[in-house]
Amino acid sequence: MNRSMFTQSGEWAIISRHRGFITYLKSLKFRIFFVLLLAGWLPMVIVAGGVLDSYRERAITVRGTDVQNQCRILSNQLVSYNYLKDPSSELISGELTQLSNLYDGRFIVIDENFKVIRDTYGLIEGKLVVSEEVIRCFKGETTNQLSNKRYIEMTIPIQEAESQRIMGVLLVSVSTDSIWDNYEVLAGNARIFILICGAIILTCAVLLAYFLDRPFNRMIGSLQEISEGHSTDDLKIRTYTETERISQEFNKIVNQMRVLDESRQEFVSNVSHELKTPLTSMKVLADSLLSQEEAPVELYKEFMGDIAEEIERENKIITDLLSLVKMDKKAANLNIEPVDINDLLELILKRVRPIASKKNIEMVLESFRPVTAEVDSGRLTLAFINLIENAVKYNKENGWVHVSLDADHKFFYVKVMDSGMGIPEESLDYVFERFYRVDKSHSNEIDGTGLGLAITKSAILVHKGAVKVSSHVGEGTTFSVRIPLNYIA
Ligand code: ADP
Repeated sequence: MNRSMFTQSGEWAIISRHRGFITYLKSLKFRIFFVLLLAGWLPMVIVAGGVLDSYRERAITVRGTDVQNQCRILSNQLVSYNYLKDPSSELISGELTQLSNLYDGRFIVIDENFKVIRDTYGLIEGKLVVSEEVIRCFKGETTNQLSNKRYIEMTIPIQEAESQRIMGVLLVSVSTDSIWDNYEVLAGNARIFILICGAIILTCAVLLAYFLDRPFNRMIGSLQEISEGHSTDDLKIRTYTETERISQEFNKIVNQMRVLDESRQEFVSNVSHELKTPLTSMKVLADSLLSQEEAPVELYKEFMGDIAEEIERENKIITDLLSLVKMDKKAANLNIEPVDINDLLELILKRVRPIASKKNIEMVLESFRPVTAEVDSGRLTLAFINLIENAVKYNKENGWVHVSLDADHKFFYVKVMDSGMGIPEESLDYVFERFYRVDKSHSNEIDGTGLGLAITKSAILVHKGAVKVSSHVGEGTTFSVRIPLNYIA
């Protein structure tokens, strides 16, 4: 039992260490550090290596050309002193020894019978050298090889100037050790230099990564304080343009959330209040009936009628609230299909006409063209029915309601105009708000919950449309709706 607990906790420790390492690798701090290190150090390593290598190659090439030139001069002298036939010339022998010392190399003079006339190492004099290079040189090809890069080997023809006849071959092998030694000393110095610079860059990278990352750490700290509820201050990290912008956007979101929270609280208190009002009325009515010993039947009837009205009102509020909640749900729940908007409006007008005829209100539908649009017919019917019902409700006797429908290639437009009481300018901004009613005095006379226009706006917005209102008190009101013909998801 205990053992298994130990192994488990050991595994957890490994997993959390592994996670911590991955988190560190993903951090901005590590990336800044890594980029700085790479950008500062890698070019230096590459450049130093490249420069040294090209120095060495160049030095070897120069050495080869140098030796070749010297050998050409020597070959001319060999011909003019007839050295191949008579190798007794002290001058030439001396020069061969001198060149051999100077270039740390071996100079072998071979005559046309492949016999070695002179070897500066004195090892193979009098012997025959029938190597491939020597034969090729007799045929007129000079060779210049870098064997192992540690020495340069070359063959130079000893040629008579006039007849161009090749009388012998100069076989040369020159050491490049001195160049390699120089190279190694320089490479050693470069390595020390790179290591010192590497250490300096590493320190700078660690410090820079720490300082550049600090504002973000401060930001995380402040965000944690805000999210844990220890601070209500605005986020203010102004070190970089980016942190400043993140702070601004974050503060905006927090403010929006605060507003949302306040409006939610307000909505809940409004709902409770609105639902309580009819209940309070019913309670008052019931209490007053109960307090009377022998109330007449007529009074009972009258009060029960009032109670029924209050129940009806309560019912309407609940129905509207449910519609509103349904409207607010995600657009994914929309039932989008091609709908004939002319038919839809005609049907609504037919439904509202009986109420209109009570006040002798004339209702006209003016359609400029047939319109079919991709909409949720249920929600849109609710939106237009509220507008048209309001146009009737807040109208005067013998008034008129004018509904028009038009479209272009992108949108269709519906206008609902009425000859009613109008909305005061100061109320225009609020009519779409939940539970807002313009004048509480007329709200007593005209039935309503203050939710109709909120439902309308919500239904139009879910279709990515727009609604505007314009009105003159005493003259009438116009609601203008614009909705895309094709639903934009
Ligand atoms: P209500 O249930 O009170 O009708 P609405 O949300 O539909 O709620 O409307 C909000 C308020 O806007 C109404 O109480 C009314 O004062 C005003 N209003 C809406 N439509 C009209 C209109 N066509 N003419 C005059 N006032 C209107």
